[in-house]
Amino acid sequence: MPLLVQKFGGTSVGSIERIEAVADKVISYRNAGNDMVVVVSAMGGETNRLVELARQVDPQARGRELDVLLTTGEQVTIALLAMALEKRGYPARSYTGAQARIMTDSSHNKARIKSIDNVKMTDDLKQGRIVVVAGFQGVDEHNNITTLGRGGSDTTGVALAAALKADECQIFTDVDGVYTTDPRVEPEARRLDTITFEEMLELASLGSKVLQIRAVEFAQKYQVPLRVLSSFEASEGTLITTEYGTDKTMEQALISGIAFNRDEAQLTINGVSDTPGVAYQIIGPISDANIEVDMIVQNVGADGTTDFTFTVHRNDFDTALEALEQTAKRMKAREVSGNNRIVKISIVGVGMRSHAGIASRMFEILATEGINILMISTSEIKISVVVDEKYLELGVRALHDGFDLKTKS
Ligand code: ADP
Ligand code: ASP
Ligand code: MG
Repeated sequence: MPLLVQKFGGTSVGSIERIEAVADKVISYRNAGNDMVVVVSAMGGETNRLVELARQVDPQARGRELDVLLTTGEQVTIALLAMALEKRGYPARSYTGAQARIMTDSSHNKARIKSIDNVKMTDDLKQGRIVVVAGFQGVDEHNNITTLGRGGSDTTGVALAAALKADECQIFTDVDGVYTTDPRVEPEARRLDTITFEEMLELASLGSKVLQIRAVEFAQKYQVPLRVLSSFEASEGTLITTEYGTDKTMEQALISGIAFNRDEAQLTINGVSDTPGVAYQIIGPISDANIEVDMIVQNVGADGTTDFTFTVHRNDFDTALEALEQTAKRMKAREVSGNNRIVKISIVGVGMRSHAGIASRMFEILATEGINILMISTSEIKISVVVDEKYLELGVRALHDGFDLKTKS
């Protein structure tokens, strides 16, 4: 019997009515002759609510106890869904991450899955039960509860599909697939029938929250057929494919999508001596404070001094600024400044590799709208710019229009 792993996100299980609708949907796939494993997120908004509760007790709350708190959201939805299935006459069994033996490392709040012991779940499936698993959580070797980072239920779904050798992992959400950009920002965005893993990885890493990046990495590594589709309407959704997939005739678009990230902040240190080791002296204390640095730009030195600008996650802005001020004192730098009202907009496409002039076209489009670019970074298949946050919507729409993404290439 074919095995499907289906994951339903927060909006899809956001109320009792919606959980009942998920039960009906799962049953329809079951009746069509599939074994079913279902992964659910917490009810929409619940994880944020729990984070806020933790912050009221300790603004710096993180680590083990935060994980104990956050995992309760998914424990509610697995139980409610299993009840709804049983009430309809379909035997079901719910599992928390720990019960499902989703073993992770011990990095609380961003743990990585190491292994899954599928014996019990396989046995349930053999007995004809529907297996319901809490997304976003696991357990480490010392029996501590862990979470997989925000959006982590996607990764649970893919990891289970890999462990159980499912025929497909289906990510049900509140949009009907992967679009050329977030349809909430650009209503003219177009749904893609397929997208390569390479491009999806890039979009996810540059801020497209439709799939957690680790889920895409996992699916690519273990060759899990992965599809994004709507909980609310019937459609084929978007299939994430290998680059050399079956559809070899597929025309490779120049640009496949636009991603953006609102969680960015920029820091600058001016007038540091232009000598070997400066970059290390500046970035070292930032990474020692466990802060990930994204983009880095060092100016060409003049008069023996240089300037250095980098970006970090907005949540880390205050800590990074403090660390940089200490560094500035030590290095006798002229000035430190910061801006946490910036965003990053990126265009992504494997077709870019073989085409010159994409960057200049991107800058031209932004210039026409009067959008000032603060930083630029490029790779073979993406170009990112940092701009003031007030230009996010305008920038995304102008690029979507300028690269003609609403028309199928
Ligand atoms: P879930 O709770 O189901 O996991 P998420 O909010 O995590 O849902 O992800 C779905 C959201 O991702 C959509 O509502 C949409 O606003 C956003 N999104 C961002 N970029 C894209 C894109 N390129 N295509 C589709 N949706 C996108
Ligand atoms: N509930 C978690 C979150 O909001 C995990 C998820 O939904 O994927 O991040
Ligand atoms: Mg999500």
